[in-house]
Amino acid sequence: MKLAVIEGDGIGREVIPAAVEVLGAFGLELEKVPLELGYARWERTGTAMSEEDLDTIKSCDAVLFGAVTTVPDPSYKSVLLTIRKELDLYANVRPVKPLPGVTGVTGRNDFDFIIVRENTEGLYSGIEEIGPDLSWTKRVVTRKGSKRIAEYACQLAKKRSDKLTIVHKSNVLKSDKLFLDVCRQTADAYGVEYNDMLVDSMAYSLMMHPEKYDVVVTTNLFGDILSDMCAALVGSLGLVPSANIGKKYAFFEPVHGSAPDIAGKGVSNPLAAILCVKMLLEWMEKPESRLIDDAIADALKKKVITPDLGGKASTSEVGCAVAKYIRENCIV
Ligand code: ATP
Repeated sequence: MKLAVIEGDGIGREVIPAAVEVLGAFGLELEKVPLELGYARWERTGTAMSEEDLDTIKSCDAVLFGAVTTVPDPSYKSVLLTIRKELDLYANVRPVKPLPGVTGVTGRNDFDFIIVRENTEGLYSGIEEIGPDLSWTKRVVTRKGSKRIAEYACQLAKKRSDKLTIVHKSNVLKSDKLFLDVCRQTADAYGVEYNDMLVDSMAYSLMMHPEKYDVVVTTNLFGDILSDMCAALVGSLGLVPSANIGKKYAFFEPVHGSAPDIAGKGVSNPLAAILCVKMLLEWMEKPESRLIDDAIADALKKKVITPDLGGKASTSEVGCAVAKYIRENCIV
C-alpha cells in the first residue's frame, strides 16, 4: 500500500504531521510518499502541481491531504479539482457525527449522518465562459454520474439503517430531475427506504432535526455547502473529515481549508485530519480504525483540546495524545 502525503498550505502543514503520527502508531506496513503541492510551491516555482506530481499520485493507492490556499491567479486551475477529476474520485463522503462531550451551535449530540456528494459534475463541470458582461457555468448532470453516486449512497445506507434522503432542487433546476429520478430508481432497486428534500428545506431541517437523517445524497455544489454548514452542528470545522472515493483511488482530506488566520500558530485542531486517518483505515478494511474514536474520546476527557474547543493544547500535543493512546492499546 502506497500513500501520498500532501500537507499543502497553512494549517495543512500542522494537522497532517499530527495525523501521520497517529497513523504511524498503528505500525502498519505502508509506504509514505511526501509531495509538496499548493500555493507555497506555486510562489516558489510558478506551478502548484506538475504532470509529474500527478503521475506520482497515480502511482499511489491513496492520498492523505491537508489543504491548499487558492492561488491568486485567474488562470490557475485548482489542484483539488484536478486531482478529483484525474483520479475519478466520484464520491465525496462526509460523516457528520458529534464527538463525546462536544456540541455545536444547536447544543445537541443525538445525530449521526453522512453526506454523500457527487464529486465530478454539477456546477463544478469546469465548463464556463467568463466575460465582462456575461459569465456562465454549465451545470452537468448525467445518468451515469447520478447512478454511480446513488449506488454508492445506497450501498452505504444498506450498511447503516437503510434510510436515504435525496437532496435536489428539481422544481427550479430541471437538470436535477434526472438526478432525482435516477436516485429514486436506484434506491428502489436496492430496496432502500428513501425520501427527497429540496435543498433549501433540507438546510433548515438539518439544523432543526439532524437526528432524522442517516445517508444524504446530493449533487456537487449542494453537498459542498450543506457539509460546511453541518460542521457548525458538531462544533468546529476542525472536527469534520472527508473522503473522496473512486473505483481505484481514495483521497482523504479534512473539510476545513488552509485557515491562514491561524496558520503557523500551532493552535489548529488536528482531529478532522486524524478522523481522515480513521476513514483511510476503514477504506483499507482495518478493524483497528475504531481505536481512533476511543483515543479521541480519551483526549477529550483529559481536556487535551485545542482553543477552538475551549482548550489550551497545541496541534502537536493533541496528535501526540491520540497517538500515545493508540500505541498503548493497539493489539494487531
Ligand atoms: P481557505 O482559503 O484555505 O479555504 P479559509 O480561512 O477561507 O481558508 P477555512 O480554512 O475552512 O477557510 O477556515 C474557516 C474558519 O475556520 C477560520 O476562521 C479558521 O481559523 C477556522 N478553522 C478551520 N479549520 C480549523 C481547525 N482545524 N482548527 C481550528 N480552526 C479552524
